[in-house]
Amino acid sequence: MILLNPGPVTLSDQVRGALNGDDLCHREPEFAVLQNSIRQHLIDVYGLQNQWAAIVLTGSGTAAVEAMVTSLIPENKELLVVANGVYGERMASMAKRAQITTHVQNNEWLKAPELAAIESALKANPEISHVAIVHHETTTGRLNDLAPIAEICERFGVRILLDGVSSFGAEDIDFNGWPLDGCAATANKCLHGVPGPAFVIARRQAVANGSSRSVYLALQDYLVKQDLSGTPFTPSVQTFYALDAALVELKAMGGQPARKRLYEERLGNVREKLQAIGVTPLLEDGVSSCVLQSFIVPDHCSYDALHDGLKKEGFVIYAGQGNFADKIFRISTMGEIPPAAIERLSHALEKLLAS
Ligand SMILES: *Cc1c(COP(=O)(O)O)cnc(C)c1O
Repeated sequence: MILLNPGPVTLSDQVRGALNGDDLCHREPEFAVLQNSIRQHLIDVYGLQNQWAAIVLTGSGTAAVEAMVTSLIPENKELLVVANGVYGERMASMAKRAQITTHVQNNEWLKAPELAAIESALKANPEISHVAIVHHETTTGRLNDLAPIAEICERFGVRILLDGVSSFGAEDIDFNGWPLDGCAATANKCLHGVPGPAFVIARRQAVANGSSRSVYLALQDYLVKQDLSGTPFTPSVQTFYALDAALVELKAMGGQPARKRLYEERLGNVREKLQAIGVTPLLEDGVSSCVLQSFIVPDHCSYDALHDGLKKEGFVIYAGQGNFADKIFRISTMGEIPPAAIERLSHALEKLLAS
């Protein structure tokens, strides 16, 4: 089966094979070697220097985002969440449940974040220390344009917490040009690992300045232990092997820029085919990520029929969420997908969708 949902992804043989590594106790030096290798590879994905640290925990992407949101904001400081989809709205819930004073700048799901509204929220609330935003909002496929938001934050001396769960490893992220304090992501999206490890790339100074509101998700505790080659809790050891193997593969193929080109090529093929048979993308041209694109289900078809027809051909696609349930379908091009499978996909889409 080829998975075209936004994670988990279809595995390469190498990554799947790594799951079969030796049984390991996480208090033995062999685990330290594995964890150190992963942390270094993660830092290397964007060529970062040592004011940055990769902090790895076991949990899904949401765990890493929640660890970032609940650890990096100083006590008594406030958060502005900029939301234009499910994952932005989820960050606002996390912060509120952790009793962080939270301001939310909600945008319609089909819209780019409204810059003037961000600016006035920051102007009105000088206690805001951080803006939380999703990079690639997987709800619609929009890649939020961070440069102008970074510029506003810079002017107000505010730092950014980035949900990079579905962009890290593929999209460009300007760690040193934007005022980033943290970027949360997971093993099983653009990195092509297995669900299990999730991580935050955090500025060490932000970890020191921040205040944790959780026991399991306290980045401060993970960082102290991991810098000493330890870990506070039992990690998902076998999936750490798989992530390490996946990071070696990413490096071998040419790293993040090469992965971005690969996704662009795959998604370009699919988009071209769909447009040729009259299927409309959900978003205007030029704003979708290289990772995933949403399309409107044509009137003469239903999501379920399309999903089931494609599954018979060996492909799993993804439905819309909320108001978009049944109205759109999403195709992600992450994972180990042979070029021949993209060809087969195009034919299957044509067969099922051409009116
Ligand atoms: C997948 C995803 C998450 C996390 O989802 P999990 O199911 O917890 O892995 C968070 N943010 C974005 C933008 C995502 O695409």
